[in-house]
Amino acid sequence: MGIGQQRKIFKVTLLGDGAVGKTSLRKTYLGEGFESGYSMTIGADFAVKRLKIDNNDFVAQIWDLAGQQRFSAVREVYYRGTSGCLLVFDITRRASFENIPSWIAELLKNNYNRVVPIVLLGNKSDLRSSAKDPVLREQAEEYGRSLSEWSGFSVPYIETSAKTGENVDESFKTLLKNIVVFYERLYNK
Ligand code: GDP
Ligand code: MG
Repeated sequence: MGIGQQRKIFKVTLLGDGAVGKTSLRKTYLGEGFESGYSMTIGADFAVKRLKIDNNDFVAQIWDLAGQQRFSAVREVYYRGTSGCLLVFDITRRASFENIPSWIAELLKNNYNRVVPIVLLGNKSDLRSSAKDPVLREQAEEYGRSLSEWSGFSVPYIETSAKTGENVDESFKTLLKNIVVFYERLYNK
């Protein structure tokens, strides 16, 4: 039985420091519009999107987890059963890039040490030209390559803007395609 019959629901989690733009990316992807005011995510929100990949229907459950450390008890529950992750940092805030490894560690810790498909996102690309010390694309791409070597499958790096919508659809699509390939390989072995 192929993946088309078996695993139609994917749980996608957005991970990364507070204020990198996880909720904004989700909202832009779902067509809910960009808000410039900042409202802290409490615990987790979840939304559902139906989509077609290679003529198969899928349902993506998109979980948007709070980045704030004090919600770590909530986060543990929501990592479980994750099919894939969007790992988000803010290109204008270097610390959010440097924290990506700790997000991966937390994912592994709460997911029985299993790696899942990952796409690395450098968000707020619309602010690149005005940022003082932005994370360079080459540096993030290099890190993506090291994650690919470590995990054994491709970890793409994509620069997004939840504000302008740049590459937002592409990011979710890329992750979902990689999830399909990953689980097909896993179950057809
Ligand atoms: P979260 O804590 O990771 O969920 O971050 P939010 O989605 O709440 O965004 C935090 C702040 O960054 C908000 O003020 C957003 O309006 C802003 N923001 C998010 N994405 C972008 C972006 O791509 N460009 C710009 N200029 N601001 C953004
Ligand atoms: Mg949020």
